[in-house]
Amino acid sequence: MHILVCVKQVPDTKIIKIDPKTNTLDRRGVPAILNPYDTHAVEEAVRLRARYGGKVSILSMGPPQAVAALKKCVEIGADEGYLISDRAFAGADTLATSYALSRAINRIMKEEPIDLVICGKMAIDGDTGQVGPGIARRMNIPPLTGVKKVEEVDEANQKIIVHRKLEDGYEVLTSPLPCLLTVEKEINEVPYSPLPNMIRAARYQPTVWTVNDLEDVDRSQLGLKGSPTIVGKMFSPPKPEGGKRLTGTAEQQVSQLVEVLLKEKRELLVQGGK
Ligand SMILES: Cc1cc2nc3c(=O)[nH]c(=O)nc-3n(C[C@H](O)[C@H](O)[C@H](O)COP(=O)(O)OP(=O)(O)OC[C@H]3O[C@@H](n4cnc5c(N)ncnc54)[C@H](O)[C@@H]3O)c2cc1C
Repeated sequence: MHILVCVKQVPDTKIIKIDPKTNTLDRRGVPAILNPYDTHAVEEAVRLRARYGGKVSILSMGPPQAVAALKKCVEIGADEGYLISDRAFAGADTLATSYALSRAINRIMKEEPIDLVICGKMAIDGDTGQVGPGIARRMNIPPLTGVKKVEEVDEANQKIIVHRKLEDGYEVLTSPLPCLLTVEKEINEVPYSPLPNMIRAARYQPTVWTVNDLEDVDRSQLGLKGSPTIVGKMFSPPKPEGGKRLTGTAEQQVSQLVEVLLKEKRELLVQGGK
């Protein structure tokens, strides 16, 4: 089974700030990491390879530094990595991103057919969760979103059974292969990487393609040119002011709270009486 995992390198949003003047992400000094959801996607692919055999390939679109994200995937256990990197891809929204990635998937499939594509549930910077379903639409394969467990892959009959997360439980879905999964974090726990993987990752150089390496590409659908989305404004929500921390036992906290509420009520009554 050939599994392809799409991964994005993202700024560590635990550290990132929004520049209040420009309303854009202030990435200065912020380390780039492998999108956390994608680490679970890669781990799941590696586990499926252990169960059913085959190969795990990784695909990313991003600047040359995104090679580091691909190396991280090799550390988790991936076999091959492909990076598409070119100025023509810059400024892509989810529409242009899914188009570029689907063109690269086409090229990889020419070398070796793909049975399963796995994406993370969403990227922690853009947060849209649209790229996975976008790729599936362009490849004309079923998208199975919010997957929290892969129960079985039946290669002989070319089908997969997964558990899909719902608000109040889960549903069990069967889909023909090839298909695309977007996975939840709870699908697995990513263990520390074994030393041989770390050594391989340190030496590994992924394949890097520019737009010229992809076939049948409509350049008007790439990058900023192919992106109808405009992010009009971004801002940090204002920090709530004031507030008082309740202390002591639960009973003491309840009586403090009642006191605060009664005081507020008295003040409102006084204002109303004026
Ligand atoms: C703050 C911010 C807000 C944005 N808002 C929007 C918006 O509203 N609409 C819009 O169209 N674009 C938006 N963008 C741009 C968006 O981040 C990029 O288009 C990005 O390439 C894909 O969207 P995403 O980050 O939402 O990914 P998601 O759709 O959330 O990612 C889901 C999965 O798709 C795969 N994936 C995503 N990107 C890549 C990649 N480059 N390479 C390989 N696999 C990938 C990964 O498996 C990932 O887990 C925004 C960007 C930022 C920084």
